[in-house]
Amino acid sequence: RERKRREGVNLLELSASYFRERLKMPEGRGAREYLERRGLSAEVQQAFGIGYAPDAWESLKRHLGERGIAESVQVEYGLLVQREESGRTYDRFRDRVMFPIRDVRGRTIAFGGRVLGDAKPKYLNSPETPVFHKGRELYGLYEARQANPRLERLLIVEGYMDVVALAQFGIRNAVATLGTSTSEEHLARLFRMVSEVVFCFDGDRAGRQAASRALETVLPLMIDGRQARFLFLPEGEDPDTLVRREGQAAFEDRITCASPLSEFLFDQAATGRDLARIEERERYASQVLAAIARLPEGVLKSLLLGELSRRTGVDQSRFEALMARDVAATP
Ligand code: ATP
Ligand code: MN
Ligand code: MN
Ligand code: MN
Repeated sequence: RERKRREGVNLLELSASYFRERLKMPEGRGAREYLERRGLSAEVQQAFGIGYAPDAWESLKRHLGERGIAESVQVEYGLLVQREESGRTYDRFRDRVMFPIRDVRGRTIAFGGRVLGDAKPKYLNSPETPVFHKGRELYGLYEARQANPRLERLLIVEGYMDVVALAQFGIRNAVATLGTSTSEEHLARLFRMVSEVVFCFDGDRAGRQAASRALETVLPLMIDGRQARFLFLPEGEDPDTLVRREGQAAFEDRITCASPLSEFLFDQAATGRDLARIEERERYASQVLAAIARLPEGVLKSLLLGELSRRTGVDQSRFEALMARDVAATP
């Protein structure tokens, strides 16, 4: 297993340097211009090891082949795609800006590649491989730890460009999930490194839905001393566009003002409800209670029940009884 890992990482490392070299060559010109249009500095491109996969079917394949790496291994680690009918293999990543995804020790374990234009899919990720598991890895975690010897807080954003742009503007503690929603495994990992996470998804419908899902996922992990907060961006913005427009200080102010979990939990349940009406207050209370029930036993849970009781005028002991009944009813 460990031997396999070394072999894979070696091949991925070779590919990463190949992509970096291609970016500097004449064939990388379009990608260089693209990165310039997106405003990525040379320093940040280097820090994140950004490269370019040429517009060709067998460019990496030939490069790795010349270095003695079997095609079957290249397929296994997601660099080549194999056609089912013919068995023919070709480069998975073509004409894309390449973001190496590194594990916490800095070893390249996968790639994300972005098209230079509007073609679909916008981003292409490595498939699951012996060393890459999407539900576990976070883009930028290695770089964040490198930049901050004493990391206390991590920002969770949606995309590669968000991580990289924030870093360029001095906010070097952002990580992104890789085309999946934030999993409990992601969060458990992050909470082993820091006591606070701030979710900062795009200011669009998908981003707000991601925040609601993140709330659900983080609730069971809220043991005492941990903090989760939610930062909502203006409509149409993502961290990349916003930090470029407003700059570091304004973005940091937004982080400072991000809603604590307790606030988001109540606000979200209240959204679109007229709490002067009893029936809507009932639904509001049920929704909040269901969330509170997911919290581990602790001070936060008691405090939130107290707050729910104040906000609805229902005795806390009634809510506790309801929660106990629901727990008993769960198979
Ligand atoms: P950019 O700024 O380069 O346009 P973005 O990160 O703002 O990219 P979004 O559309 O907001 O792109 O998507 C957020 C993230 O979701 C992406 O960074 C990427 O990780 C993932 N993603 C988006 N589209 C796809 C796709 N078609 N396939 C796989 N993953 C995708
Ligand atoms: Mn989006
Ligand atoms: Mn973007
Ligand atoms: Mn975005």
